[in-house]
Amino acid sequence: MNPVGKPGKTGALMPVEAALRQLLALAEAAPIREQHAVPLAECDGRVLAQDLVSTLDLPPWPNSAMDGYAVRLADWAGEPLVVSQCIFAGQAPQSLAAGTCARIFTGAPVPEGADCVEMQENAVVNADKRVSFTEPLHLNQNIRPQGQETTVGEHVLSAGTRLGPIELGLAASLGRDRLDVVRRVRVAVLSTGDELIEPGLPLGPGQIYNSNRRVLCSWLARTGCEVVDAGILPDDLEQTRERLASLGSVDLILSTGGVSVGEADFLGIALREEGELALWKLAIKPGKPLTVGHFRGVPVIGLPGNPASTLVTFALLARPYILRRQGVTDVEPLRFEVPVGFEWPKPGNRREYLRGRIEQGRAIIYRNQSSGVLRSAAWAEGFVEVVEGTTLSVGDRVNFIPLSEVLN
Ligand code: AMP
Ligand code: MG
Repeated sequence: MNPVGKPGKTGALMPVEAALRQLLALAEAAPIREQHAVPLAECDGRVLAQDLVSTLDLPPWPNSAMDGYAVRLADWAGEPLVVSQCIFAGQAPQSLAAGTCARIFTGAPVPEGADCVEMQENAVVNADKRVSFTEPLHLNQNIRPQGQETTVGEHVLSAGTRLGPIELGLAASLGRDRLDVVRRVRVAVLSTGDELIEPGLPLGPGQIYNSNRRVLCSWLARTGCEVVDAGILPDDLEQTRERLASLGSVDLILSTGGVSVGEADFLGIALREEGELALWKLAIKPGKPLTVGHFRGVPVIGLPGNPASTLVTFALLARPYILRRQGVTDVEPLRFEVPVGFEWPKPGNRREYLRGRIEQGRAIIYRNQSSGVLRSAAWAEGFVEVVEGTTLSVGDRVNFIPLSEVLN
C-alpha cells in the first residue's frame, strides 16, 4: 500500500470523492485473489469470484401460469372440447390430441400442440364433462415461454457481485449447490485510547466505555469479513509496537482514535518505524482526520475516534475499500434525492453527513449532530448529504443515503 493522498496544498482539505478514489485504487492494488467453492447455504454476504453462467434454459419448457385448460387455438370454434388429459406440476404431458383440451395446473408443462392456456375462471364444465370458454382466447396467453428467465450460456451474475438471498435464489434455480467465492478479508480492529475500558467493567475516573470496537466488529462481520478483535490499545509506544507485531496475518488493520491534532500519535510513530503513514485531512464532517498507510506491508486505515466520525468514515470510505479488496464492483451506496424539512443557513467547508430521517417525504435531522453522539445514528434512517459551500431552505433537495445501504 502506497499512500499517495496528501492534500494538494498545506491546509487544503481532500474532497470525499478524491479520498474514495484513492482508497479504491489502493484496494485494487492489493486484491484478495484466493477463492474457493462454498456450499450455497454459506454464501450469503460473500463475493462471487467467477461469473455465474447458465447451463439451463429457465424455465426448461413452456409452462402454465394459471390453473385452467390448455388448448390449440385453432380447435376452439365455440363447440365444447373433451378433456383428454390432466397435467399437474411435476408431470410430463402427452401431446395434445387434436380437437381436445387438457386440464392443466400452474407450473405444469404445456403439452406439445397447445398454444394457449385459459384460466379456469373463464371455463364452464358442461354436464357431459366437456369444456367451453366464456371469453375470447389469445395465442400464447398464460404460457410462460421456455427460457423466459435465462437461456443456456447466459451470464446471470458477474464476478464481483455480493451474494444475498436473491442471488442465491438465482443460483439455486440454475441447479448450483456451490459457488466460487472470494476469500473473506481478515480485518484487525484496534481501539486506541487510554480512556477506554470495555463494557461490563466499572467505570473509573476519566474513563469511557469502548463503543467503536463493538460498532466495527459487528459491522465488519455483516460485511463478510473475518474479524480479528485486537482490543484496546493504550496510548503507549511500547505497547503499540508489541500489539502491532502480534496481529499475525491480516489483510487490513483498522484502528480508531489517536488521530486528533495535538494528540500523542503512538500508532503513527510505530507505523512510521516499520511502515508508512499519511494523514489525510478530509472535507468530511464528522470525521476530518483519516490515516492511511501500512505496517510491514499490511494496509492500515485509521479512523477518527469520535463514534459518529468512526461511523461515517467507515460507511463511506473504509467499507467501500474493504469490499473492493474482494473485487466487489458495486461499492458505493445508493443515494436518492429528497427535499429537506429543515433550514441550513451556514455553508460549511466540509461535506456534512447529517444523521437524518424521512418524515412525510422530507429529510429531517437529529437535534444533536455532534461527532460524539452515536444516538444520532441510532435514531436516523440514513445520512443527509450536505455538499460543502451550500445553504439549504425547506424544500431544497439533498442526497439521502439510507443506512440500510451501508449496514451490510
Ligand atoms: P481521539 O481521536 O483518540 O482523540 O478520539 C476522539 C474522541 O473519540 C475522544 O473523545 C475519545 O474519547 C473518543 N473515542 C475514541 N475511541 C473511542 C472508542 N473506541 N469508543 C468510544 N469513544 C472513543
Ligand atoms: Mg485517543
